[in-house]
Amino acid sequence: MGSLTYIVASLGVLVSITEASSLSKRAALDTCLSTLKVPIYANGSADYTQAIKPFNLRVTFKPAAYAVPLTVQDVQNAVSCGSINGIQVTAKSGGHSYGSHGLGGEDGHLIVDMKNFNTVTVNQTAQTAVIGTGGRLGNIATALYNQGKQAISHGTCPGVGLGGLSLHGGYGLISRSKGLTLDNILEATVVLANSSVVTASETQNPELFWALRGAGAAFGIVTNFKFKTFTAPENNIVFQYYPSLNSPEQLVTLLTAMQDFTRNSQPPELNMRLFLSSFTSFSGVYYGSRADFDKVMNPLLAKMGVSGGLITTNSWLNTLTSFSNGALAQPAVYDTHETFFSKSLMPSYLTPAAITALANYWNANARSNSRAWYLLFDSHAGANSAISKIARDATAYSHRNATFKMQFYDRVNSGTYDPTWQSFLNGWVKVIEDASANQGVDLGMYINYADTSLSKDEAHKRYWLGNYDRLAQAKAIWDPRRTFEGPQLVGS
Ligand SMILES: Cc1cc2nc3c(=O)[nH]c(=O)nc-3n(C[C@H](O)[C@H](O)[C@H](O)COP(=O)(O)OP(=O)(O)OC[C@H]3O[C@@H](n4cnc5c(N)ncnc54)[C@H](O)[C@@H]3O)c2cc1C
Repeated sequence: MGSLTYIVASLGVLVSITEASSLSKRAALDTCLSTLKVPIYANGSADYTQAIKPFNLRVTFKPAAYAVPLTVQDVQNAVSCGSINGIQVTAKSGGHSYGSHGLGGEDGHLIVDMKNFNTVTVNQTAQTAVIGTGGRLGNIATALYNQGKQAISHGTCPGVGLGGLSLHGGYGLISRSKGLTLDNILEATVVLANSSVVTASETQNPELFWALRGAGAAFGIVTNFKFKTFTAPENNIVFQYYPSLNSPEQLVTLLTAMQDFTRNSQPPELNMRLFLSSFTSFSGVYYGSRADFDKVMNPLLAKMGVSGGLITTNSWLNTLTSFSNGALAQPAVYDTHETFFSKSLMPSYLTPAAITALANYWNANARSNSRAWYLLFDSHAGANSAISKIARDATAYSHRNATFKMQFYDRVNSGTYDPTWQSFLNGWVKVIEDASANQGVDLGMYINYADTSLSKDEAHKRYWLGNYDRLAQAKAIWDPRRTFEGPQLVGS
């Protein structure tokens, strides 16, 4: 009894020492930020409370402090305050990470919100644009278009931030002809862990440039990118079909035809996706004439057993809007949220056994699930896709051969998400993995659809496949004290 009392008392002392040291670290951090005049949202203020509300309300964290820099010097000062006080530093752009990685992915980080870095400056002659990383995609697309009808390849949701999207992938409506967002970065301005500012490009700090394009969050805070732009295509064919899906055999037919087409003959001008939910839709965009679209699509539709779609001809901005679930313009104070668990798969190939297992699981488990779930298949790679034309080790993004980008999403429209419900999507992915075992198939995962159920080792393996070891070496060079840390980031 005496020794138990002693142990409890010792633990009490240990806990209070730990709490005191973490409290004093935070106090020192606050003093440092205040001395260097870094703008912040004070803990507990209305701005702070709003800013730490993540897109995914299932995954909330409490930062050590919340900086809102106005200048690159403010970003440098914030990084040095975090670094000298042993507090991890996390950049936040649009806050859309599914695992709330923009809030650190765990408690206790210094958040550096890049919202004020949102300008878009086009050089129309060179067809380049310098864009702040804190801007949101809808506002960026409009600003690019207003400066000589320019555009970049990016994701569909207008509220997503440029920072997270570009540093880890960036797949959207024109990726099969123009590549991912990260494939179009020419240069990045980066604040490093030692708080210096460098340019990363093919010729300046090329290894950092390599790592930023696929795993950027672990290497620094990017304040802006220089992108190559293209002239926005107009008169685009936007299509949407609603296949009625009644049996697993039908789903097998649909997916088999789609996969074969994507891998072998889908032209780069065509981007498309299959959306499975309480209803099914097959939609996309074709950058060409209606006559050419019919020539390309009709044989595929016949194989898929799909007909009777809604087909319109749209300008570039209307094309983006038709996939954006609302207006492109995004408010200064962003307040859209969902509550969900999500997973991804980036299969190089879905074997016939995997497609059957996936379809049977849909029939047995998904159709009867009354939550707002979906499974999305984006046609990603293939013989004619710009994404696969780039070598797998040319950037840190390692899914160049992934036929589909599959996103599994399970959402509640109100209330909280019961953690036991994660077994629904975990089970779906598991049957696909089991059916693909020993078939020489890559089954990566996409960090931009961060999966909070992955351990750090699984995350490293699945997000970066064969590129991980090189990333870990780069991390040791650029951020040896692991200032930019998160539970699933490189080097965590
Ligand atoms: C509704 C919705 C739709 C989506 N649609 C698509 C899509 O069509 N295509 C697609 O590819 N993805 C899509 N995504 C996924 C999206 O790309 C990722 O969630 C992305 O990481 C979000 O970036 P963010 O800046 O908004 O998020 P944040 O949470 O702010 O950041 C995500 C990660 O990037 C890091 N980061 C952010 N800014 C910087 C910076 N300046 N410097 C260094 N690190 C930084 C953060 O630290 C964090 O680790 C979608 C997500 C949502 C919620």
